[in-house]
Amino acid sequence: MKSDWTKTKVLVIGAARQGLALARYLASHGAIVTLNDGRSEQDLQSSKDQLKDLTIRWVLGEHPLELLHETDLVCVSGGVPLYIPLIMEAVNKKIPLTNDSQIFMENVPCPVIGITGSVGKTTTTTLLGEIAHKASAKDRKVWVGGNIGNPLINNVEEMTGNDLVILELSSFQLELMTISPNIAAILNIKPNHLDRHGSVEAYTSAKANILKHQTSHDYAIINRDDRGSFGLRHLIKGNLVSFGFSPIPEDHNGSYIENDAVWVTNHGISEEICKLDEITLPGKHNISNILAASAISLVAGLNKEAIRAAIREFKGVPHRLQFVREWNGIRWINDSKATTPEGSIAAILAFSNPIVLLLGGKDKNLPWENLLHLVNQKVDHVILFGDAAEKIHGYIKELKFQNQNFTLDICNHLQDAVITASKIAEPGDIVLLSPGGTSYDEFKDFEERGEKFQSWVQNLQ
Ligand code: ADP
Repeated sequence: MKSDWTKTKVLVIGAARQGLALARYLASHGAIVTLNDGRSEQDLQSSKDQLKDLTIRWVLGEHPLELLHETDLVCVSGGVPLYIPLIMEAVNKKIPLTNDSQIFMENVPCPVIGITGSVGKTTTTTLLGEIAHKASAKDRKVWVGGNIGNPLINNVEEMTGNDLVILELSSFQLELMTISPNIAAILNIKPNHLDRHGSVEAYTSAKANILKHQTSHDYAIINRDDRGSFGLRHLIKGNLVSFGFSPIPEDHNGSYIENDAVWVTNHGISEEICKLDEITLPGKHNISNILAASAISLVAGLNKEAIRAAIREFKGVPHRLQFVREWNGIRWINDSKATTPEGSIAAILAFSNPIVLLLGGKDKNLPWENLLHLVNQKVDHVILFGDAAEKIHGYIKELKFQNQNFTLDICNHLQDAVITASKIAEPGDIVLLSPGGTSYDEFKDFEERGEKFQSWVQNLQ
């Protein structure tokens, strides 16, 4: 644990949420901080303003190697690839690399539940936060953050040993971590972020870091239904806990489905949590997230009443299968956060009504074939939009469906796609924005895309 940073020369690369929080923490603990970002001064003016009370050297617009001449430690923010020359050179020079989550873990005084996975992290983390809030006594503070919301490094000094932290961790954050949480969940591992990690192996290895540094007293929660997650069970050093729809082995503790209800079992004692028809979130994938949150709650000692109440009340997280509006008998759904084809698959499977699907955004070199096969079975009309539209169109042509069951439109922008959908959809249909690609072709992030979508939909007359 390092809490005295006096005179340590730290280079923070990436001036987004995590980098800014870390720079603030380090500079206010005496470190000499340089904050470097490839974006321009103009783009980062509001970030600079946020830290203007601190002495920080800003180097913007490029990543000059000279920055390493006087650097003891390099902190890499989540969005920054480890293969940029500046970081490769730091590795050559044997300058240690770290990040906000690692420094947080080095200093956090209370138990930590870490959640990672390709999809479902935010939903599961948010639900678990609700459960923990309900289950915890007034003197126990529950902190929820990490890859979502607040990078908790901001609050580490307010935390006490009695608190509980629920931390969403991305593969980028885990890549550099050498401490694992006491309770660690891997929800699933699907091909994702291959543009950044290079291979499925490298991506899996980054995710596995959440378990690798656990001890025999710790708990690892894995998904019986997911080959990637369950395949890591040989790495578990402590207690294996599993969740899933498939039957639970007799020697596992964890969660499962039986008689149309969610159950947990612990050392041979099984208890029903809630009936499936009490769950308001749409989609089988969300039941998987609920199973995960239940299994984690079981080992975290959160009581069943809290689990049940939180599940029953949980309405989901914005931009994930979020209901926007019913307009002329057509239901409009915002799933802007589905930034992978896998996410869109989960969304399509969540509905039984005819679907008009808005698909596109920016491609990140993920396979589209499985999604397009499902589209052919379940979707009535596809509207491709954005940067990836032509590429997806190319895949559709390549697949040469014997019977193409959907009709197709191609639009330049999401707004055109909304207008097109409003002309095509019929009463009883669902118009589903579940793009499968990221938002960076047209928007700042998936939130902006989801908000714009909602406002265009609200304005339909
Ligand atoms: P993450 O934080 O991992 O990106 P979210 O909870 O924000 O995950 O969900 C993102 C999208 O992924 C959702 O819009 C939904 O379409 C899909 N999704 C969520 N949970 C799952 C799951 N367990 N399995 C498959 N897809 C999921």
